[in-house]
Amino acid sequence: MGTGLKLLELMLRQKLLGKGLEGDPNTPLIVSYAVTKACNLRCLHCHVSANEAMPNELNVREAMHAIDEMANLGTEALIFSGGEPLLRKDFVLTLAEYCDDVGIITAMLSNGLLINHKVALELKDAGIKAIGIPIDSIDPESHDKLRNVPGTFKKAVAAIQACLDMDLEVIVTTMALKDTFNEIPKRIEFLANLGVDEVAVYDLVPVGRGKDVMDQAMTQEQRVSLIRYLQAKQEETEMVFTMSGGQPLYPEIAMEIHKSHDTKPKDLLLKEFWIHNAVGCHAGILYFSLRPDGDVYPCTFLPIKAGNIREQSLTDIWRNSKILNTLRQRNALKGKCGACEYRETCGGCRGRAYACTGDYLETDPACLHDLMVEENVYPNNVKRFGWCVG
Ligand code: SF4
Ligand code: SF4
Repeated sequence: MGTGLKLLELMLRQKLLGKGLEGDPNTPLIVSYAVTKACNLRCLHCHVSANEAMPNELNVREAMHAIDEMANLGTEALIFSGGEPLLRKDFVLTLAEYCDDVGIITAMLSNGLLINHKVALELKDAGIKAIGIPIDSIDPESHDKLRNVPGTFKKAVAAIQACLDMDLEVIVTTMALKDTFNEIPKRIEFLANLGVDEVAVYDLVPVGRGKDVMDQAMTQEQRVSLIRYLQAKQEETEMVFTMSGGQPLYPEIAMEIHKSHDTKPKDLLLKEFWIHNAVGCHAGILYFSLRPDGDVYPCTFLPIKAGNIREQSLTDIWRNSKILNTLRQRNALKGKCGACEYRETCGGCRGRAYACTGDYLETDPACLHDLMVEENVYPNNVKRFGWCVG
């Protein structure tokens, strides 16, 4: 099935059944593929510590072979990331077209520096359905400070505008950090005025260079207040908000709001990907991350090697890797997550648990258990999960 038909099917599923993607258990519905470690920025919080290209990054033939295996395993969507994926633009365009041929929908996360109208059109023509571009503050200086290169705010805004002008769906990714926390409402207003209607709010997972700015992670109080704010905002806007970077239950809260207000979020790519599998953190269950050199991680925020596609087939890694199989057994979880009534439907962010404790099975320190209870999100009544792909 081509990707056009697949998107149509997803839209119909949403409209008629109110459901997103549905797959057999342990199907890698979504894959994030970091095509290079090279980057033209040096963001202070970069979870992959991007700088230069790795000497042994996959070539087109190897990547196409991996995509064939993904298609056979049931992958529905592939997200190109990096580093900065547009530093390998021709590679990405070739693979996007190939994905389109084999029926995998593609999206891309980019810092936006290399996107102008011409590039936006090239991406769209290659079949890429949406671009994620970061805006971390509406104060250009704060954004540039975090991205570590002056002028990036202006360029990111220009990239968003170019994509919107070319009718390419834009999802703005935005970091929720302690110091800039109070400007989030203004940030959302700014994005709405730009014409953006999908925002993925990132909660810092201290991985890579993110470890060095760990003190900038939101406090638990801010985290809860942010979710309450997004809930309230979701009631009054057709913009779609998701939380990524380790808040595996947020989309369920958002759907509860829509149910109680008898409203529906717009038909946007993010919404269409909401998955009808109640698994919470889907690292290794419905999702994995392919690294530039062929390593496979359960999640981009959980940098533990499950295998390498040059040494083993992707199918073999997906089916037989010890770490992936352990992640699929929620009774293997430890600490608070292991004993929790939401264990099967949330499971905590395994990436954050690993980053903060050194054990990927331990307690997620950013747990929102109390909020779930207050919001009447019942453990066995969690129906959907969101696009949490780092
Ligand atoms: S480990 Fe799980 S919850 Fe954390 S970012 Fe990855 S998919 Fe999301
Ligand atoms: S303890 Fe918290 S993070 Fe862990 S499974 Fe329960 S609700 Fe989720």
